[in-house]
Amino acid sequence: MPSLELIVEATAVMLILMLISIRAGFVDPGGLFSSFIIGYSIYVFGGRLFFVPLLVFYVVAGLMTKLRYEEKRLKGVAEEKLGARGWRNVLANGCVAATIVYISSCTHSIPRPEFLAAYLGAVSTAYADTLATEIGLLYPREPRLITSMKPVPTGTPGGVSPYGTAAQLLSAFTIVPATALFLPKGYDAATFLNLLAIVLLSSFLGSTFDSLIGATVQAVYRCERCGKVTEKRTHCNAEAKHLKGFRYVDNNVVNFVATIFGATIAYALVHFGLIPLEIV
Ligand SMILES: [Zn+2]
Repeated sequence: MPSLELIVEATAVMLILMLISIRAGFVDPGGLFSSFIIGYSIYVFGGRLFFVPLLVFYVVAGLMTKLRYEEKRLKGVAEEKLGARGWRNVLANGCVAATIVYISSCTHSIPRPEFLAAYLGAVSTAYADTLATEIGLLYPREPRLITSMKPVPTGTPGGVSPYGTAAQLLSAFTIVPATALFLPKGYDAATFLNLLAIVLLSSFLGSTFDSLIGATVQAVYRCERCGKVTEKRTHCNAEAKHLKGFRYVDNNVVNFVATIFGATIAYALVHFGLIPLEIV
């Protein structure tokens, strides 16, 4: 059971964070509600150790979605509503992570390293994918499809670019130092490097897996008003034409599956002793 102090702390921090989110426009009303539920439950069941990496993801991804927003909007590839994320996006990126924390807290009073790894694998996959997308959209040339390596229009699911790949890798370097600060055993070099290796591998493989399913099974549309290729069902306030992929596999479904993949990789790395991790 979470302590009263932790509940009070989580309530206070989450209320402040939600006020900041409204002001910064990180989420729309539905996104605000679902990020409160996800963030609050992770804080209460996982404490600071689990909450802080989520906080890094939430704030940095929110800022990067806003980065040169006007330029992305002119390219026709910006997130709608000035980049405010909706509840589907929040749940797709956060519900696997929240489930892992819940299972971890129900089964172990002190978190097992495999569970921390799996949690970070899920969060960092969603984080790496979001940064790769938002920073990759600023790449001045056309991205290449991850499967064929042929140039495709910016915004095509499964499109990869040097900017996106750099962002995908760099995301680990923000989330790992923040997590290491809150490890029960403290901050030492070996643990830090092992944690970095786990997060780098799982987030890179998880977000690459995201691009692979994006390129193969995700629904792709073309806007009949502006001609842009998009992963959104509607564009320029009109129904877009379906080009390929399964209609019910949208970006949120792909993100959700990719976070499970990232979590599994990280869990396996620690469980099978490929990368040792001691946290207490
Ligand atoms: Zn359009």
